[in-house]
Amino acid sequence: MDNFVVSAVACADYSEANVSSAMDAALNAISGLEWVKPGMRVLIKANLVSAMRPDQAATTHPSLVCDLVKRLIGLGASVVIGDSPGGFFTVAALNHVYNATGMVSAEELGAELNRNIGVSTININGKVMRSLTYTSYIDDCDAIIDFCKLKSHGMVGMSGAVKNLYGVIPGLLKPETHYLYPNMNDFADMLVDINEHFKPVLTIVDAVVGMEGNGPTAGTPKKIGVLIAARSSFAADLIAAQIIGLDPLEIPTIRASIDRGHIPANYHELAVCGNVEALKIDDFKASIPKSVKFLGETHFLIAQRFIEACLANRPMPKKNLCVGCKKCANLCPAKAIKMVKGKPHIDRKKCIRCFCCQEFCPKAAMVVHRPLIMRLLQKGE
Ligand code: SF4
Ligand code: SF4
Repeated sequence: MDNFVVSAVACADYSEANVSSAMDAALNAISGLEWVKPGMRVLIKANLVSAMRPDQAATTHPSLVCDLVKRLIGLGASVVIGDSPGGFFTVAALNHVYNATGMVSAEELGAELNRNIGVSTININGKVMRSLTYTSYIDDCDAIIDFCKLKSHGMVGMSGAVKNLYGVIPGLLKPETHYLYPNMNDFADMLVDINEHFKPVLTIVDAVVGMEGNGPTAGTPKKIGVLIAARSSFAADLIAAQIIGLDPLEIPTIRASIDRGHIPANYHELAVCGNVEALKIDDFKASIPKSVKFLGETHFLIAQRFIEACLANRPMPKKNLCVGCKKCANLCPAKAIKMVKGKPHIDRKKCIRCFCCQEFCPKAAMVVHRPLIMRLLQKGE
């Protein structure tokens, strides 16, 4: 089955030569571009979450995007590169992001950087999502390539291919959409709904240098040295988790993808081209959302929720780094943040742990805090 075919290859760095040979190997192994026809308009949905430099490792690296652009144009396609970063979805904001992330180099090769800021709403018949408001430039494209960055993520543990499609939602609507799905498993199901709806034809994961720790925007660049390609975003994430040493069942989006039959629970059941075990790293730092497996099954829902709330990751302001800009308070969808003496104060009862405040703090002053008991328990695993 095409959807179970994945390739994972070594890519030491972003030099043109290494990128070119890694892309050759990753794409050829899965016949990754055989569907491209002359005249097609192909969208590269990169991760352009914020106006950050490529070396900060929050966004898809421009060397990889440029290599793919050349291949697609060589096959006769026209290429548009797009994403909806956090904040205002305006042409000025997009231009700022394209400049900072190096996407302008892809424009010089003939790709179009999306500047259509139109928005549409449709009904979809997802498992949890009924109405989807999205950036409508996508409608002008014949096929989508999901080109993500592999990063740690405060809410769902790992940001990879499935999470990357959250970027179809216009920037300012992202916190609101979080608020509609405050439960982590519902949020993961909503992300799977979006992936089912848009059906990317090809997924590529930039795991050459990923981000660990306080991701997805304020973490630390981490060399992983891998490029992954797949015909399914779900399968790409399963392999990505394996490579950075995470238990796939601990990642809500992967768990939801398995439950919904998109991928098997065990990556050995995928048709993998490449030696995943040899590419694996064992020191990637991620904050897995919560793991209450040690409690076993509990039938007392209220007790379970209480325990989970106590053990869950939570946002925590670092007051020495905070400059009091109020951005976190202004975008918090739960209105859980109040500024007290110029610093954010979080009402834990209102907080839905969406981590929007952490993701978009311009000073990396909001961090993912793991309760001590979870740090001790996970150390012992
Ligand atoms: S967004 Fe960051 S810097 Fe600004 S007030 Fe919040 S924690 Fe402080
Ligand atoms: S305080 Fe932060 S994590 Fe909590 S709801 Fe507000 S934005 Fe989300």
